[in-house]
Amino acid sequence: MSKGKLFILSAPSGAGKSTLLNEVMKRLKGLAFSISHTTRAPRRGETDGVEYHFVDRETFLDMKEEGLFLEWAEVHGNFYGTSRLAVEEQAAGGADVILDIDVQGAGIIRGQGGVDAAYIFLAPPSLAELELRLRRRGLDDDETIAIRMANAREEMSASDEFEYLIVNENKDEAVRMFESVILAERARGRRHLDGGELRRELLP
Ligand code: 5GP
Repeated sequence: MSKGKLFILSAPSGAGKSTLLNEVMKRLKGLAFSISHTTRAPRRGETDGVEYHFVDRETFLDMKEEGLFLEWAEVHGNFYGTSRLAVEEQAAGGADVILDIDVQGAGIIRGQGGVDAAYIFLAPPSLAELELRLRRRGLDDDETIAIRMANAREEMSASDEFEYLIVNENKDEAVRMFESVILAERARGRRHLDGGELRRELLP
């Protein structure tokens, strides 16, 4: 069985990342979502073990000390981390693994080398539109929105470090674009993985 690839998706919060992910996971087979650990409190409607593994700071810091995270970062005052073992197991099972992580985490994985990953940045059409969306969804108070907007400005400036940029102007188009990136990367991967064997089969 071939080993899966990692798809690292970063976006300022409110850019529409969860909707995009849900849609693409429904449409394409062979994708697995990496469930991060976080010290953030669950939001309304979130379930432990589905969106995140919700843990306390002590548990998180112990895991960090033990080197269990492929990457970790502090975002908006909370810790978030990706379990190395969970991702390795998902990829070893042949799934392409989607990591919804911030730009710091993406930078850490990029810097490690030796990880087969594609880097995708999802941007809102503008910062003004982003603020509107954050207010409309009604999940955060004014102070949190101000922190998220300051963070968004910084994250947008890191977007040119990513291989792919998807601007979420229109949801359906953004979904199609993300899907196309995954399919294109899979086609590229096959070239190396199946090597001569596949070509021998296809050639007359
Ligand atoms: P939220 O609290 O809104 O779910 O996520 C806040 C930010 O943390 C988002 O940008 C999300 O991508 C990021 N995030 C979620 N999980 C991880 C993780 O495991 N590592 C890193 N570095 N960032 C994460």
